[in-house]
Amino acid sequence: MKSQIQSSPLILDRIPVLAETDILVVGAGSAGCAAALAAREGGQHRVILLERYGFPGGTSTQMLDTFYGFFTPGEDPRKVVGGIPDRVVDSLDAAKAVFLRPNTYGAGTGVNYNPERLKLVWDELLEKSGVRTLLHATLVAAESDPSGRLTGVVISTRQGFFRIRAKRFIDASGDADLCHLADIPYEKAGDIDPAQSMTTTFRMSNVDLAAYESAGGKKMLMQRMSAAMDSGSHPLPRKAGSLHPMNAAGCISTVAVRVADLDPTDFQQLGEAEREGRRQAFIYEQFLQDCVPGFEHSHIIGLSHHIGVRETRRVHGEYRLTRDDCMNVTRFDDRVLLCGAPIEDHRPAAGGGEETAWAYVPNGQAYDVPYRTLVPKGREEIWVAGRCFSATHDAHASCRSMAQTMAMGQAAGTAAALSLETGIVDIPTLQHRLRQQGALLETPSKKAHTGAADWKLNHFDI
Ligand SMILES: Cc1cc2nc3c(=O)[nH]c(=O)nc-3n(C[C@H](O)[C@H](O)[C@H](O)COP(=O)(O)OP(=O)(O)OC[C@H]3O[C@@H](n4cnc5c(N)ncnc54)[C@H](O)[C@@H]3O)c2cc1C
Repeated sequence: MKSQIQSSPLILDRIPVLAETDILVVGAGSAGCAAALAAREGGQHRVILLERYGFPGGTSTQMLDTFYGFFTPGEDPRKVVGGIPDRVVDSLDAAKAVFLRPNTYGAGTGVNYNPERLKLVWDELLEKSGVRTLLHATLVAAESDPSGRLTGVVISTRQGFFRIRAKRFIDASGDADLCHLADIPYEKAGDIDPAQSMTTTFRMSNVDLAAYESAGGKKMLMQRMSAAMDSGSHPLPRKAGSLHPMNAAGCISTVAVRVADLDPTDFQQLGEAEREGRRQAFIYEQFLQDCVPGFEHSHIIGLSHHIGVRETRRVHGEYRLTRDDCMNVTRFDDRVLLCGAPIEDHRPAAGGGEETAWAYVPNGQAYDVPYRTLVPKGREEIWVAGRCFSATHDAHASCRSMAQTMAMGQAAGTAAALSLETGIVDIPTLQHRLRQQGALLETPSKKAHTGAADWKLNHFDI
């Protein structure tokens, strides 16, 4: 169902115009924040960033604490993302709010951060660059001219509705809300392949991590989960689930809950998913207290602000990234970022039944992500960035880590600025600007250190 405001000019005329801007970014998640910062590079353009909640970061601050995708997985990690995403981690590093979490396989080396500090880091970076960030402002309708070109949006705030007019738009809402409202075609998760499940993450304090590790750590945890499921002692939703130490002593964060077969673009089903996620989180708490050494005196101290939604709408772009592109390491002349992350598919039916299916990019390589995956088909005034970019279910399951969503934002914001200046997006010019910002468009040939104090892994081996 779309907002009726969109199709009623009479109502639109009665809504006050809050602002006119050059570039409007919808959604202050990792993609949207990076897009807004990139669009402000050089300081030429007015940029507004819209966010429905009271803080920036989206999934990065609503529920997580580890950036994946900066490094390729495996024994020979290479850093494949740079530029604005580096500035974000540098700021966290300066606040001593970051450490590296070695994860040789899995998703690769993670950059663990304090998510509350990250909210402040995004605030400061956005403010310093001159982005006008509007919090507690929800996009509810899109305005187009008679040719179908997007010209503005309507937002809902506690003071009522406002219009914002813009010359260029970036949909970084995660769920492609702007594209949906503007009638831009997309595939919805679940239309073709089963949609990835949702997860309420939770954090626990007062964990004795030394006792946990000496009792066998992750291997022991898996065995105990399996035993609890088999005996029926604790009704866990599955036999797997991960936990890891946080940036605060004695605290852990989890990715364990699994809620499937509900549609998060339907608000009533999303509400049901939130309730189910909370219910499962406290089943895990009981299980951990009862069955896992080190957790006897621990408690949940926080649930994610929002249930974690891995995929919803994937916009049909000028190109759709495919599983073959990832697995064959296809090279594209219009590449704007790299990705070496495995396909990590949390759909219940995939390969391992109820468990997550993994497929690795061969030989620790990184594939190219083409610019055209950020351009909705046939459009010149709007880009997509982040988890609503143009990809099949499988390719999306690889290219959705936050280093990549930030890199997509960086590319989309730079492209939007370029198109305002020259009327077109010339690919060599776009790539030149991205390289100037520090983006990596070629896989470094040198191996990175692991476990070094410097978050960039002391750069690379000499
Ligand atoms: C449970 C879970 C675990 C994950 N684990 C990891 C991990 O450990 N490491 C990793 O790198 N990646 C992980 N990912 C993937 C990654 O976090 C996401 O793909 C990525 O954060 C998406 O970023 P985004 O900016 O595209 O979207 P989001 O982070 O979803 O940001 C979208 C923003 O838009 C706002 N918004 C939405 N609609 C509107 C509207 N109508 N009006 C105004 N604002 C709106 C939202 O509030 C939000 O702030 C995980 C994902 C999930 C769900």
